[in-house]
Amino acid sequence: MSETGTILSGSAALKIAVPGSCNPTDLNMYCPKGTAKTVAQYFLENPDIRRVPLPVKKVGAERTPFSKFDVNRGVRKIYLFHHTITGKVITLCESIAESPLVPLLFFHASFVMNYVSGHDVVCLYSALTENYSGLSNLHPEFTLIHKPGQNRKWISRGFDVHADCSYLHSIHATVLSGVEKGACQWASRRSDDRWIARVSFQVCPVGSPVSPIISWQLGRRVTEKNGIMPGVVQVAGDKWYMNTFRPGGVWVEYYAPVDRRSGKVVSAWWKRSFP
Ligand SMILES: [Zn+2]
Repeated sequence: MSETGTILSGSAALKIAVPGSCNPTDLNMYCPKGTAKTVAQYFLENPDIRRVPLPVKKVGAERTPFSKFDVNRGVRKIYLFHHTITGKVITLCESIAESPLVPLLFFHASFVMNYVSGHDVVCLYSALTENYSGLSNLHPEFTLIHKPGQNRKWISRGFDVHADCSYLHSIHATVLSGVEKGACQWASRRSDDRWIARVSFQVCPVGSPVSPIISWQLGRRVTEKNGIMPGVVQVAGDKWYMNTFRPGGVWVEYYAPVDRRSGKVVSAWWKRSFP
């Protein structure tokens, strides 16, 4: 994990961040773009782990100054592994960017935005998550991009999912409002900001959050009339997205799952292709 920048997220990371909160049935790993083959090779060195073939098709999509990293919700390719002794599944998601964190910021709610890296445990919304509370990462196509029943599943486990942070405060987080950025969908966050709880379990270089540093804003309801604005993820300090005068974007590739029989991309799968 240290060598490639791979992280563990999903319910296994939540259980470590908030012990007793859930019982993970599988492992969801996330690696930076370009490292998936190295990580997959590492898993396959274990004779009890085998790769589950997942038919995919390479798809090109334009990453424009407006779509930023919202290409297949930040996932470039998914690899599935099966542990033959325990029957458990390991899912490896290759990020569409150099940061393995990008797919996490497209998760459905803030309380699953946790990860374990090679040297620390990190909870991105610690003040809420430790109280079994979270903010919904709103999106105009929420029901298409997330598995049905996600929120209900977590509510049954005792988590509160706030659809709108206006329930928590009347003025959204700014420098002057005094509202904690870690409890506001409108707040611009960074992967090295002070609203994150980070516990190192290994000696590591000073101030070494997973690099590159990314910034994000959750999806939120802007007004009753204008509806919902999806979340935004970008590499911190990358001003490329600001150059909106630039007519085109850049092309990125991702791998969409295909139906074995028809060989066609199943949009319902790739739209919600991350765990
Ligand atoms: Zn707010």
